[in-house]
Amino acid sequence: MTDIAIPNDVAEFLTTGHSFVVVGHEEPDGDCVASQLALASYLRRRGASSYLCSVGPFNRPEIAEYGDQFSATIPQQALDEKAAAVVLDCSTSERTGALGGAIASLPTLVIDHHSSGSAFGDLRFVRPEAPSTALLVQLIIEREDRLTASEARLLMFGMCTDTGFFRHLDDTSAAVFAATSRLVAAGANPRATYERIYGNRSFERRKLLGRQLERAEWLAPGVLYTHQTVADLDALPEPARGDDDLYMLLRAVAGAEVVAFAREERSGGCSVSLRSSESVDVGAIALQLGGGGHRQAAGFSWSGSLAAIRSELGQRLPAAVPIAAAPGPLDSSSAPG
Ligand code: 5GP
Ligand code: MN
Repeated sequence: MTDIAIPNDVAEFLTTGHSFVVVGHEEPDGDCVASQLALASYLRRRGASSYLCSVGPFNRPEIAEYGDQFSATIPQQALDEKAAAVVLDCSTSERTGALGGAIASLPTLVIDHHSSGSAFGDLRFVRPEAPSTALLVQLIIEREDRLTASEARLLMFGMCTDTGFFRHLDDTSAAVFAATSRLVAAGANPRATYERIYGNRSFERRKLLGRQLERAEWLAPGVLYTHQTVADLDALPEPARGDDDLYMLLRAVAGAEVVAFAREERSGGCSVSLRSSESVDVGAIALQLGGGGHRQAAGFSWSGSLAAIRSELGQRLPAAVPIAAAPGPLDSSSAPG
């Protein structure tokens, strides 16, 4: 990633408004929540009102504590104030849930880093080369002002969730590390951030990880698949999202080019997460299935059973995996245990 400049019209949108609704995506993650909180903090420091909005649910353990700062609807006061909207980390309007319709009449700035999606909003600051939306928010604040320590901590948290604590970055990422260095100088603590994202898991949660690993199977050469059922969640004292540990362990399996993880949701359908090595664009596959994301991390929702999604993935994913890069066994009986 080379340096990203903040366009003048984006800076003007944020510095001239007096009231903002700051909107993120449904099923928010650390990058989304941190970007919203840091941007709202900056707008308030400038003297503007800012209203944090998200349909939630805040069921990833690392963001659960922030849920009560967000409203699931657009507050009437914001509409009365003729607020402008800033939508963060959303590749489509649908990703905001019901909020997309509610803000349709407001002037809208979109700040995002997804590589696919459908364009919406009046002004778009979308940079797929940015590893997190938090980085874009950092650059916006830094253009005008110093970061507060609390904003730096939030932005570090957002950066670390979307980069898997920097492990997805490569030798083009010097500018990202330079920006992260400024976060540390402003008060962010890498060790505390790591602890917050990866630590403090319940024992039951670790047992569930064991079951997810036990169920892993080769759907095809190079394609590892596992799943979780609704019943698996009964014993958990904490929310179930936040599966980075699982992806880290399965992606590290020799021959695994794609990792697919299907979660049966209480609503009857499933949600599916895809992770890949550089050679496979899972964002394109998720897009075909009604979702989206990035080249190496994507997802989609599926209204159907776990068996149906396993079969669908078994048909679609093998074609995306380069044959030469797929030494994995053909069936689960010969898979490594
Ligand atoms: P995760 O697997 O962590 O839920 O999501 C990985 C990436 O895929 C994120 O960038 C997220 O925004 C995107 N993603 C996950 N689920 C969906 C979905 O249902 N629709 C869209 N458009 N993107 C998704
Ligand atoms: Mn993001």
